[in-house]
Amino acid sequence: MAITPDKKMDVLVSLCKRRGFIFPGSEIYGGFANSWDYGPYGVELKNNIRNAWWNLFVRGRDDVVGVDTPIIMNPKAWEASGHIKTFTDPLVDCQKCKKRFRADQLSGIVCPECGGKLTAARQFNLMFKTYVGVTEDASALAYLRPETAGGMFVAWKNVRDSMRKRLPFGVAQVGKAFRNEITPGNFIFRTREFEQMEIEYFVAPENAPAAFEAWLDAMKVWVTDVLKLDPAHVVYHEISEGDRAFYSARTIDIEYAYPFGTSELYGLANRTDHDLSRHQEATGQDLRWLDPESGKKILPYVIEPSWGLDRSVLAVLLEHLDIDEAPTTEKGEKEDRCVLRLPPSLAPVKAAVLPLMKKEKLVDCAKDLVQQIRRQGIAVEYDESASIGKRYRRQDEIGTPWCLTIDHDSLEDKKVTVRDRDSMAQERILIADVPAWLTEHLVQKP
Ligand SMILES: [Zn+2]
Repeated sequence: MAITPDKKMDVLVSLCKRRGFIFPGSEIYGGFANSWDYGPYGVELKNNIRNAWWNLFVRGRDDVVGVDTPIIMNPKAWEASGHIKTFTDPLVDCQKCKKRFRADQLSGIVCPECGGKLTAARQFNLMFKTYVGVTEDASALAYLRPETAGGMFVAWKNVRDSMRKRLPFGVAQVGKAFRNEITPGNFIFRTREFEQMEIEYFVAPENAPAAFEAWLDAMKVWVTDVLKLDPAHVVYHEISEGDRAFYSARTIDIEYAYPFGTSELYGLANRTDHDLSRHQEATGQDLRWLDPESGKKILPYVIEPSWGLDRSVLAVLLEHLDIDEAPTTEKGEKEDRCVLRLPPSLAPVKAAVLPLMKKEKLVDCAKDLVQQIRRQGIAVEYDESASIGKRYRRQDEIGTPWCLTIDHDSLEDKKVTVRDRDSMAQERILIADVPAWLTEHLVQKP
């Protein structure tokens, strides 16, 4: 049974809180608008997505290297990149209720909340300001980065000089970015503090169009093979010349069909030599790359594939959240079952070991199996509370692919019942074979 789109966000938000994925931030203080805590399973899921990305795009390639640059950089870098002047939204204020709105999202000329008069539109910078050091004057003013890309452009010269890479090659980074959005919302879709996974891929200008195509293909592989999103739910939206940033030679927005509407998931842009030329001009440093074959110096173009990590978490949860029917303990009865059909490689817990009853011999056998699995580096959980049916339901809701039940027969035949999350089918395998069985199935079903 599919969950209707109007209910899906409510079902997900409720499951995330109930099962320890994502909680409202600062909740005991009455909350803090638009902030969310990743709970124990949420952080595992997020880490698994981040690690899968790093393994695929950094460790898995010869032509991409990673960096980790600061959230607070020299503010001159944001001046050169144009963020201080142009990273703005046009805003209007209601003169009566003092609420603030994005001018480009309003249709009328009066306040949509109270009907009051609106001020003229003003440009509002989205960067968070802070002060570095002991004084709070203009000389100490700094910004929290609004995107991770800036740090990679600024570090480009050192990466170029230290890594002896030939073009084309990319620099990758994962980290937090901050934007003082006026209209955040839709759970973790748009938050003021969020995590990005970005690559700046430096390429000779004449090879930029082909590199763009190659990165588009690589992003499709990520979407379909790693996150297992149904291609029917993903839109590759070519942005027309008139709607692109002025420096961009080509932009594609990768959008997902969220229950609240189809909207941004990732982006891919050919940023030309815009960023390097701005930083070169502002610093007087030579940021060109010397081609050892031709002896010519060139300022590379940059292809920028950009992924939102929190949006990846949201899309994965929405995509794999399902309600079907499962048999109850009473014969022949069926009940609704909420299940997260997460790809096993992304699931927070890969296997749960459950003694059928809280009897010493079963408990000992189960705990011993947990240790065997843990030694293989596989995320495993032990649970002896409540009925076996309730324990299955709980593991289904957190997306655990396999439950391993130890019963009285296990003590005799040294076998365990493996229950598959998706089909609910059961098979018995030798306890001694479990670690190898899990390893094999995690590879088979990436
Ligand atoms: Zn108003």
